[in-house]
Amino acid sequence: MGAVTGRLAPSPSGEMHLGNAFAALLAWLGARSAGGRVLLRLEDLDRPRCPARYAYGVMEDFTWLGLDWDNEPVWQSQRSARYDSAVAALAERGLVYPCYCSRRELHAVTEASAPHGPAPVYSGRCRGLTPAQRLEREAQGRRPALRVRAPGEVYALSDGLQGPYAAHLAREVGDFILRRSDGLYAYQLAVVVDDGEMGVDQVIRGRDLLPSTPQQLWLQEVLGLPHPAYYHVPLLLAADGRRLSKREGDLSLRALSRTHTPEEVVGRLAFWAGLLEEPRPISPRALLPAFSWGKVRREDVTAAF
Ligand code: GLU
Repeated sequence: MGAVTGRLAPSPSGEMHLGNAFAALLAWLGARSAGGRVLLRLEDLDRPRCPARYAYGVMEDFTWLGLDWDNEPVWQSQRSARYDSAVAALAERGLVYPCYCSRRELHAVTEASAPHGPAPVYSGRCRGLTPAQRLEREAQGRRPALRVRAPGEVYALSDGLQGPYAAHLAREVGDFILRRSDGLYAYQLAVVVDDGEMGVDQVIRGRDLLPSTPQQLWLQEVLGLPHPAYYHVPLLLAADGRRLSKREGDLSLRALSRTHTPEEVVGRLAFWAGLLEEPRPISPRALLPAFSWGKVRREDVTAAF
């Protein structure tokens, strides 16, 4: 068996905050402690929201923290041709259809059927449109999104940190978007295509993405790609219990770097992760010898610096 290939996959839509750094540190430790490679992929699919300066800022922040990577970074914004081919491969199998529903229509249906939950299940409204009905919508100037038909099957994984997780795709996820009506490719598609092509076999990321994993497993299967091992790590929460977000400027790494050393920040992250008994300054490399998944906590952490 070859060495592990892990990855850092930041979405550079703003300044990196401590939550991003926390997931990145664990992704780096997971791969490096197994003697593996770490690849860097900039998830800048939403180009207007992800100007290159943020991506360079993230790379500077990683370097400041002591997280390194192998090979040239991969930019999702430059890979549309790959995503086109993947959509074509899915379409060839009859799995893709155009969806003309507007945001407002989706919203109305969602409110009626599923008031709770972050990812509403699509009603399937456009699934059975006839060619004539599609033409009619095109003639009205509507530009479709592309959806994939979710199978009526359960996809399950054994997450390295969170344990077993499964979802019935048709019932719990529904037909999901591959390409938005404005032409932007969806994260779900891009992540599967890229991890496959980059040879990533270890995915370490925030726990918020655990519910996306069954659909990614299915896409991997349909596209003939191997399944990576998954470790979904806890999220860092603000004092009010909400997840840290890019808006919490005070916890941006850039701001912290003015008052703290990288070792202080890494030590705090490692303490929150369960890797240190108490916060003390340390480098990522110095954490390697004692790193083990058995120590890493599963529950979210309130991050007070
Ligand atoms: N880009 C995503 C994020 O920054 C991570 C996606 C993934 O790891 O699959 O949260």
